[in-house]
Amino acid sequence: MENKIKAHNSILELVGNTPLVRLNRISEGFTGNFFAKVESFNPGHSSKDRIAMHIIEEAERKGILTEGSTIIETTSGNTGFSIAMVSIIKGYKCILAVSSKSSKDKIDMLRTMGAIVYVCPAHVSADDPRSYYEVAKRLHKETSGSIYINQYFNELNMEAHYKSTGPEIWEQTGGQITHLVACSGTGGTISGTAKYLKEQNPNVKVIGVDAFGSILKKYHETREFDSNEIYPYRIEGLGKNLIPGATDFDVIDKFIKVTDSESAHTAREIAKTEGIFAGYTSGAVTQALKQLNEQGEFGPKDNVVVIFPDHGSRYMSKVYSDQWMEDQGFFDTNTVSETQKVQY
Ligand code: PMP
Repeated sequence: MENKIKAHNSILELVGNTPLVRLNRISEGFTGNFFAKVESFNPGHSSKDRIAMHIIEEAERKGILTEGSTIIETTSGNTGFSIAMVSIIKGYKCILAVSSKSSKDKIDMLRTMGAIVYVCPAHVSADDPRSYYEVAKRLHKETSGSIYINQYFNELNMEAHYKSTGPEIWEQTGGQITHLVACSGTGGTISGTAKYLKEQNPNVKVIGVDAFGSILKKYHETREFDSNEIYPYRIEGLGKNLIPGATDFDVIDKFIKVTDSESAHTAREIAKTEGIFAGYTSGAVTQALKQLNEQGEFGPKDNVVVIFPDHGSRYMSKVYSDQWMEDQGFFDTNTVSETQKVQY
């Protein structure tokens, strides 16, 4: 009998090809056209599905991973979830060494996805044998046939976006993109996407979004590591206290910094205006748009693409909790803009 079933063979076939959605109300009054690449449409609800798939499939191609091999990484965040998801389908063991600062919800979520989670003390330095970096390195050394994803220093991270996110955006905009604005953490998303887009049209302007308390913007401007730039901040997944090897700073034209408070309020505003339930860094990148628009960055015919990296459900006890916002002082009148005061 002819097979008429239109099913995917596994959830992994749904990685990538995420939609580009026009922003309407949040960009009201801005000069230009604005579009969001909504990465929560990936099956693991974030852009990290792309790097998990690419890095694991490259290791398979090279014969490093075989059935039953172990995959190791040091994150309780989106990358951990994506690696766990890919590991389940492909039959690998997934070990995640995470900081004791990670929420119980996150650890439970990773265990639900089949990962073995080592919870390592947060208060020790990175070179302490108990730190999650050192635990991951040790497990990698001790486990033959294992791979250590090491997303901050793995060039395949950038390559995943060069091969998928970049071409998708070029195709979805019919080559008419003028600006890419994206958060930079490992830098894989922005550098890989930018590299592809600039190869198609060198005039595409690429703007990275960084946090106050992170080193990236200053490093981009001076190529020097200035430890005075580093202090704690709230936004997760954006900015860094080291120079990630996975970032190609040469394909980024400039960086802009955003605050914890304004990014949090803007994330809430995206839900209320566009009906898109996105993560904290989607708030950050949209906050950057507001600032860039005010600075006169965009012309009336410009087509600006921003990347929304993940889904809002991961932030219910943070940005989308009034109590958490209150505890951070984000409802203090002097940190909230006039328009945001009206909304909340
Ligand atoms: N947003 C979130 C929520 C993330 O987890 C990350 C990854 N650290 C980013 C943005 C930044 O992406 P990239 O690591 O590719 O720079």
